[in-house]
Amino acid sequence: MLQLNCPFCGLRDEAEFSCGGEAHIARPLAHNELNDKDFADYLFLRDNPKGVFLERWRHAAGCRRWFNVARHTVSHEIIETYAMGSLPKSKAARQAYQDSWRRTTAAEAASKPSKKGKEAR
Ligand SMILES: [Zn+2]
Repeated sequence: MLQLNCPFCGLRDEAEFSCGGEAHIARPLAHNELNDKDFADYLFLRDNPKGVFLERWRHAAGCRRWFNVARHTVSHEIIETYAMGSLPKSKAARQAYQDSWRRTTAAEAASKPSKKGKEAR
């Protein structure tokens, strides 16, 4: 059984947690210029790597808070846990974040306010 280190409660058994899937999926802003394919990719495509994977987990039978986990999908090694809204600190997890195909998608670019949009306001 896996043991996860909840950032708020400490080390607990996997049975207390539920996995929420891939972490760091940026939601496009309401006003964007995504075409249907790019939006469908954002909405439906999820990564399933063999190696380090960044996931969202919730301590369902504990504090009920969400946090991120960097886990190796082959060995199930928990590399680190870290707060929502932050990036991983370990080298392997940071590399997984940078190498994700998602970093270069149109949906990810559409999640940040453009300079063009700011000038128009
Ligand atoms: Zn907890």
